[in-house]
Amino acid sequence: MKKTKFYLCLFLLLSNLLSAQQTDIYQRKQQFERSRDYDVVHYILKFTFDEDNKKYRGETTITLSPLKDDFSQCILDAADFTVTSVINPAKAPLDFLHKDEKLIINLKKAYDYGEKINLTIKYHEENPKNGLIFIEATPDHPPQINAYSWPEKAHYWFPCYDFPNDKATSELIATVKEDYKVLSNGELKKIEHDDKSNIRTYHYSQELPISSYLITFTAGPYEIISDSLDGLPVEYWVYKKDMPDAMRSFRKTPDMISFFNKKFGFPYPWAKYAQICIAGFGGGMENVSATILGDATIHDQRAEQDFSSDSLVSHELAHQW
Ligand SMILES: [Zn+2]
Repeated sequence: MKKTKFYLCLFLLLSNLLSAQQTDIYQRKQQFERSRDYDVVHYILKFTFDEDNKKYRGETTITLSPLKDDFSQCILDAADFTVTSVINPAKAPLDFLHKDEKLIINLKKAYDYGEKINLTIKYHEENPKNGLIFIEATPDHPPQINAYSWPEKAHYWFPCYDFPNDKATSELIATVKEDYKVLSNGELKKIEHDDKSNIRTYHYSQELPISSYLITFTAGPYEIISDSLDGLPVEYWVYKKDMPDAMRSFRKTPDMISFFNKKFGFPYPWAKYAQICIAGFGGGMENVSATILGDATIHDQRAEQDFSSDSLVSHELAHQW
């Protein structure tokens, strides 16, 4: 009994010390906002995929504005992909150096504060391991392509300013196999069919500015369950096999949006709210208007008693404000 008390005291002392260490914020390395010399205004992200060979071609057009005079060199974050060209709006090629996850572009002239500059960067990648990944089909899930940017992984799949202290509007234009559907941030503007080549091109537009870590897309042979709240489109993107179970996890979403609208005193700000299940992922990520969730969040009636999705669904939703 005594011994037990001693160990109990020792345990409490040690756990107090440990938790004290964990909460001593003054010991943490200080983090500062990254210094920048331009403001990104808009990204247009174009992709074409060779899904079977895990390859893609990307073309990013960036509109940016210098935050200083005499701006003649632009440094973007750009990781693993191979850059083939950088051109200006006159289609003139610009010299660039791509190393140490930076793309250093010589603009050939000096721009002043506030001017607008458009740059188009073409690149390609094979079997990517980070940022944008190809997920193979298994008996549990269909094939998927997922591009995920948190915390600073956007520059693994498109050249950008990859730190949260810059917000920009964006468009995503992705061409995929005919049986794939594409989800991205903002509003779906159009889907173009090319019946000869059996491909589809999805065009999304995110019309309010967001940080790079919230830019995303997912593609795959998904089923979409459409729901709504007072005219706001609400979508649940699931595997075909999960259709009978999906609403068990998602059915409270409109009520949750309504709850947060009142709680925050500010209406849900984005064009739609979609949630999509992906493989090989735990928890969720609150990408603006296109939350991704690990596919284990869909479960049967029996599991519901021990494993409700309500806390995950409401957690990712609350991030949207
Ligand atoms: Zn969170």
